Amino acid sequence: MNKELYSPLIFELSQEGRKGFSLPGYTYGETSYSLPAKLRRAEAPSLPEVDEPTVVRHYTNSSGNNFGVDSGFYPLGSCTMKYNPKINEAMVSTAGIAGLHPAQPAQSVQGALCVYRGLEKALCEIGGMAEFTLNPFAGAHGEYTGLMVIRAYHLDRADEARRRVLVPDSAHGTNPASAAMAGFEIVEVKSLPDGTVDVEDLKSKLDGTVAAVMMTNPNTVGMFEKNIPEISAAVHAAGALMYYDGANLNPMLGVARPGDMGFDVMHINLHKTFSTPHGGGGPGAGPVGVRAGLEKYLPSPRVVEASDGTLTVEDGEYAFGRVSAWLGNFSVLVKAWAYILSMGAENLALSGPLATLNANYIMNSLNDLYLQPIPSPCMHEFVFDGLKDKSGGVTTLHVAKALLDYGFHAPTIYFPLLFHESLMIEPTETENRQTLDAFIKVMREIAVDATNNPDKIKNAPYTTPISHPDEDEAALNPILTYRDLVQCQSNTTL
Ligand SMILES: *Cc1c(COP(=O)(O)O)cnc(C)c1O
Repeated sequence: MNKELYSPLIFELSQEGRKGFSLPGYTYGETSYSLPAKLRRAEAPSLPEVDEPTVVRHYTNSSGNNFGVDSGFYPLGSCTMKYNPKINEAMVSTAGIAGLHPAQPAQSVQGALCVYRGLEKALCEIGGMAEFTLNPFAGAHGEYTGLMVIRAYHLDRADEARRRVLVPDSAHGTNPASAAMAGFEIVEVKSLPDGTVDVEDLKSKLDGTVAAVMMTNPNTVGMFEKNIPEISAAVHAAGALMYYDGANLNPMLGVARPGDMGFDVMHINLHKTFSTPHGGGGPGAGPVGVRAGLEKYLPSPRVVEASDGTLTVEDGEYAFGRVSAWLGNFSVLVKAWAYILSMGAENLALSGPLATLNANYIMNSLNDLYLQPIPSPCMHEFVFDGLKDKSGGVTTLHVAKALLDYGFHAPTIYFPLLFHESLMIEPTETENRQTLDAFIKVMREIAVDATNNPDKIKNAPYTTPISHPDEDEAALNPILTYRDLVQCQSNTTL
């Protein structure tokens, strides 16, 4: 631990008897009241005893230890860490939205339901789908929801043999995990050296036991899967459905639609492509779209439009079940809707090409020093297989750590699994030329140091509170609370 940067924990600032509040007793007329004895604690809770300024400084300083898109460049591949416009926050803070209760009768929240329905329709247009549900809370949750729709579809046709889902080996880890959660067996499909799906391998695995094929396009290596029409024809001929992992929709936004490529079911990450805040475990939203014929299996509840335009909230007769309380993370949905409306169709269609341009600019400015395993241009993101000159022993982990001293968030590392030293960079469209150039300059400096002075890079970062934790210990026995810290300190002094 870097002592200079270490500030005392709020528990260490505690002074017995110090208070941050003073409340008057509660009296009504002549009588004074206090909580009935049976509702009171026998012992005081174990909380720090501090004054109000100490509490405020604690939270303010803690927030500064975090890094977000509002602090600096965040090129975390596959995560689309684009800037979240503040107008989204302003919209969701308006009293008519912030003050809603989910149990209010539908006739009293027509405006909110109209926002919900408006976003569903916009996503249908963007994805080329017939219907969307906005209920799921995350991308992985959307995958699970979509796969449950596919399961319901096959079961409804009494096609019970379809228990397997094909997943490319380049897929995000959530794909096989969601398929397993939905009760399917997973069959891996190989990739070709250029990172795209091996169509022959995929076709050889298609039979009457396959329920669906999950595809990501552009895939997680940042390559556009050119063979989707051929794959889609083969999958449909075998009686299976095409699932689109739309977490990487950003580069296709307004340019191409999964529905037009033959996908039957898809999810979108609003906390990636649609600029709602991201990370720290949520809240997020992973809406799911389906082609015509599958909408009846979507989870309950649904917002239904009567012929006179009135909106009601109803459960579907064929819905496979429920995935959320109420209608999902409504505040997240409002932010995405504000983003779509404030961008407009033309600007939405510009974001993908600009994100792609930014990614190619960085890739081509660094590929003399970093190993580019796939020669073709990339889409919105790309992968290096570590440094070209590995003689100094500097790994992708070292490069990622060294970036932190320069105020950049690290790229995604060691994913995808197709390469040993994967370093995956996704700049997004919201970064300006100066930021991209500053990042390129630093990446080049790191590469030069990795050859001439490798220890400098291996020992970085020098400016963060913690630099090189024992990774196994940090994962197995993390110190997350004051009690863990006390425990750990008493163990080390023993
Ligand atoms: C982010 C991502 C997911 C999972 O989304 P979560 O919201 O984190 O659950 C799935 N697939 C791909 C390709 C992703 O990038």
